[in-house]
Amino acid sequence: IAPVHVVGGGLAGSEASWQLAQAGVPVILHEMRPIRETEAHQTDGLAELVCSNSFRSDDAETNAVGVLHAEMRLANSLIMASGDASQVPAGGALAVDRVAFSDRVSAALKSHPLVTIVREEVTGLPPQDWDLTIVSTGPLTAPSLAEAIAAETGADSLAFFDAIAPIVHFDSIDMNVAWFQSRYDKVGPGGTGKDYINCPMSKEQYEKFVAELIAGGKTEFKEWEGTPYFDGCLPIEIMAERGAETLRHGPMKPMGLTNAHNPTVKAYAVVQLRQDNALGTLYNMVGFQTKLKHGEQVRIFRMIPGLENAEFARLGGLHRNTYINSPILLDGSLQLKSRPGLRFAGQITGCEGYVESAAIGLLAGRFAAAQRLGRSLVTPPQTTAFGALLGHITGGHIVSDDEPGKRSFQPMNVNFGLFPPLEPGTQLRPDGFEGRFRGKDKAIAKKRALSARALADCRRWL
Ligand code: FAD
Repeated sequence: IAPVHVVGGGLAGSEASWQLAQAGVPVILHEMRPIRETEAHQTDGLAELVCSNSFRSDDAETNAVGVLHAEMRLANSLIMASGDASQVPAGGALAVDRVAFSDRVSAALKSHPLVTIVREEVTGLPPQDWDLTIVSTGPLTAPSLAEAIAAETGADSLAFFDAIAPIVHFDSIDMNVAWFQSRYDKVGPGGTGKDYINCPMSKEQYEKFVAELIAGGKTEFKEWEGTPYFDGCLPIEIMAERGAETLRHGPMKPMGLTNAHNPTVKAYAVVQLRQDNALGTLYNMVGFQTKLKHGEQVRIFRMIPGLENAEFARLGGLHRNTYINSPILLDGSLQLKSRPGLRFAGQITGCEGYVESAAIGLLAGRFAAAQRLGRSLVTPPQTTAFGALLGHITGGHIVSDDEPGKRSFQPMNVNFGLFPPLEPGTQLRPDGFEGRFRGKDKAIAKKRALSARALADCRRWL
């Protein structure tokens, strides 16, 4: 049997390799560490946890990531078995001793007769003779491979950064200065035409603001030098550097907005904030992703009229997160549509988190094994946590109409919102008296029912 190549021995690549080998398919796993490092990994171990040591909740009855744990255990996951064997006390969460965990994963793969581990950087797309390959190089994919992927998929389809814009407490915004209005009073789905908060600037205020953005102290990202910015999420201060008018024609454009407090005076520029939580207590600053130092963000953003006393729930930031626009690029079995046989897995597909990355690795490994062995390839039902996550990555793509050009596909943890709703008439109480439920109890019963359905359907699928 010809081998399947797996590029990247992180959470996803290790799990994919294990699933392939356990199915009887030889694997060549290419891992660049320690020949080449990433900016976060510190060892040469496989499946190194780069930050926290938690796999989050292990509650398989009412928590979506707990259900994913349970499904992975059913599917003979190496990541879960190694995590369970390396557990440290953490309440209802599954937390692990990171060194013991990575050692277990590395030992299992090294000693498997069908796995060959090659320590090398893969610098481009797989050569033609690698007919089946899984790329699982993670959020810190080495730049040369990232560039090759961008060339194959179109540069707009690869995000290099996750940008976070500051979030402001609504009750700290001065609504005697700011006003509610959507641009051109446009009413989007579920909207009112008044979905944004707008903060007006005069010419003088705008010019002073732009000068401060350019002069403000920035966080250094030396290790990421040379990594191109994805145009859809340029830091606000980089945009400001491109020219005095750039912001006024970009996120701060005043068109289609009329100052409710002063309708006869046209604002020279406008800062918009968009509702960030269902309660309406938090608003994020649209287009204000930034690598300004936190103190500088507070000082400079309080220059914005209406935000003089702004309290920030979270300040902006930027971190590298290489991921592809999977809903457009991949088919339902994680294959690149333009190059069948080439699969992606892990965080590079736009899932988020250790467990989710490993789960997508598990699926990619099983799909590639089925293909290599000439077996029929059956994807997990969407009612399972596997299927819900896969559906998010490869499924429908919602295009946001208020920000053309902005990618609407964003990395996400597994959550019950990704599962199809329960069938009408699903009994939530053993006695059938659904009407006796009080608020929170009903929500928990629904989660229990979604979890039970997921695990039953996962068993059937396996
Ligand atoms: P990785 O685990 O990163 O594995 C990718 C592997 O590919 C690495 O071993 C790398 O060396 C290798 N590689 C890269 N390029 C090449 C190449 N060209 N050739 C050969 N090998 C290559 N998630 C959480 O759940 N909790 C957290 O606390 C958390 N913290 C994070 C902190 C940071 C700084 C980052 C960047 C991410 C964090 N994540 C966290 C998100 C994510 O879950 C992890 O990054 C996770 O490790 C992703 O799994 P993966 O297998 O996709 O990638």
